[in-house]
Amino acid sequence: DSCEAGIIGFGIGENKMKKELKVPAIREGTVVDHIPSRATFKVIRILDLNDFEHVISVALNLQSKSMGKKGIIKIGSRFLTEDEVNKIAVLAPNATVNIIKDYAVKEKIKVKIPDVIEKIIKCSNPQCITNNEKDTKTKFYVVEKSPLKIKCHYCERCMQKEDIELV
Ligand code: ZN
Repeated sequence: DSCEAGIIGFGIGENKMKKELKVPAIREGTVVDHIPSRATFKVIRILDLNDFEHVISVALNLQSKSMGKKGIIKIGSRFLTEDEVNKIAVLAPNATVNIIKDYAVKEKIKVKIPDVIEKIIKCSNPQCITNNEKDTKTKFYVVEKSPLKIKCHYCERCMQKEDIELV
């Protein structure tokens, strides 16, 4: 009997439970949603979460109506700077950043590609000073946002989305 009751209970909350099981909810922090699956770990890398001590949960290959397969990152007890949100846009132009407080979405931010992208992208020109002098960090001007087209501040090399590689 108690077993049956359990099954019924599961049935009622099934949809909600499925959702929760994919990625555990966080009480406070940031949820980055609608990341192309393949870019998810790169987003973690640019957010520099390696030495981070709070909970980070990552889900990949979730079904999404609008984008096929997507990834989600939940970061407990941490909020992103505007700069970090903009960096996400370079890898995941359709991502949404949700600010979570008390288990609820307090704010939803649509990421925006910045006008200048510093430090995260590698210049594809081997002669570029940024590839030869360790202390010179890369800097690109955004020429076009969609599809992304950028121009190196130092060597003026133009790069398209396909050429973009992270530092
Ligand atoms: Zn360059």
